[in-house]
Amino acid sequence: MSFNSLGLSEALLKAIDKQGYTTPSPIQQKAIPLILEGKDVLASAQTGTGKTAGFTLPMLQKLSQGQQLRQRPIRALVLTPTRELAAQVHNNVKSYSEFLDIRSAVIFGGVNQRPQVATIRNGVDILIATPGRLLDLNNQNLLSLAKIEILVLDEADRMLDMGFKRDLDKIMKLMPNRRQNLLFSATFSKEIKSLANEFLYHPVLVEATPENTTVDAIEQKVYRVAKELKTGLIIKLISEGDWQQVLVFTRTKHGANRLCKKMISSGITASAIHGNKGQGARTKALAGFKNGSVRVLVATDIAARGLDIPLLPHVVNFELPNIAEDYVHRIGRTGRAGASGEAISLVCGEEREYLRDIEKLVGLKIPVDIIEGFEPDPNAPSSPSKKKQQNSRHSRGTSLNKSKSSKNDTAKGDQSRRPKRNRNRNKNRRSKDNRS
Ligand code: AMP
Repeated sequence: MSFNSLGLSEALLKAIDKQGYTTPSPIQQKAIPLILEGKDVLASAQTGTGKTAGFTLPMLQKLSQGQQLRQRPIRALVLTPTRELAAQVHNNVKSYSEFLDIRSAVIFGGVNQRPQVATIRNGVDILIATPGRLLDLNNQNLLSLAKIEILVLDEADRMLDMGFKRDLDKIMKLMPNRRQNLLFSATFSKEIKSLANEFLYHPVLVEATPENTTVDAIEQKVYRVAKELKTGLIIKLISEGDWQQVLVFTRTKHGANRLCKKMISSGITASAIHGNKGQGARTKALAGFKNGSVRVLVATDIAARGLDIPLLPHVVNFELPNIAEDYVHRIGRTGRAGASGEAISLVCGEEREYLRDIEKLVGLKIPVDIIEGFEPDPNAPSSPSKKKQQNSRHSRGTSLNKSKSSKNDTAKGDQSRRPKRNRNRNKNRRSKDNRS
């Protein structure tokens, strides 16, 4: 199938050609015609499937064919859970709309609102936003959603995990009832289905990859290792393997900082990306990693979710995630768009139970190796401590109010902005690492 047969305009085909895409990805083949028809779509697709173009291309076509009002009210809204994803979607929208008379803008927290407000005032057709900043600006009467024709909820599962449901409810009330709704989610959990029931009108279901399966192109491997030898092992793997671009996941922000410092003192350029870093530092770290000046990016789950780094060859789980589904999201950063990649997990004694959960979820026994000099500790406990387990054993299908991550991963800055009553209620929710 070619892009020509999808019914897209010349201007869009030209932009697609400029990107070098020759064939629409499966999600694009399925979603684009439905969106052009005006259907509400509920799509299961994770980052790496081409989902952004899957909703952006038909959205641009519909907006450019629609009536252009002189004042340019916001006609399409894309909501994303994180600032990085918002920026990434905006870059995609800009590229695909290069040959159209369509204006777009992105807004998220953690940076001065003034330039964002000035751009909106000049008139934009498409706004990409994180829920927090959108509501902030709306509460100050600095934007209006009264003319929204198309709403996209991108990575809706992560938005729910991050506790954005109440914000979403408020945002829905600001938009006209008659609009087209597109919901993209990596997983189809019970919560996502009920969100779809609430916000979507007779949605058509579209699936790009079977739920919770790992991409075939990714070679997965586990190194059993003593906890205190993990840093030495990762440095050895990176140096001796001459790996030039490695995304490393840690469970906590402090862990990310610590590992980053150790890498740097071993002569490996590294940056950390997590919710305690200011937006400037996060953008700089990501840019450095993408342009090759930073060899290792150490990230927490939420900060890295949705990041599109083309041809990323190595992903390392310095610690296994305590939510098995996060493993799938993490390793999905490699093996993108048909390229091959390697996902390595360093597993100490107490993480073996997490490994069992992951293998059950992906339906695969991951090959295990031990490197001489970095053997596992035979006396290590074989499961996480009770305290850690209490913080982690809930699966995605459980109530949103239950804990899904360690306390360490909760963004202090965001908590301090909340009234105490809310703070207590949210105490046990998943990290709001990237909330804006
Ligand atoms: P996404 O899943 O939207 O994050 O996209 C993942 C990557 O695939 C991005 O770098 C896109 O530029 C790229 N991409 C999107 N559509 C196509 C396509 N049809 N052919 C090749 N690459 C694509």
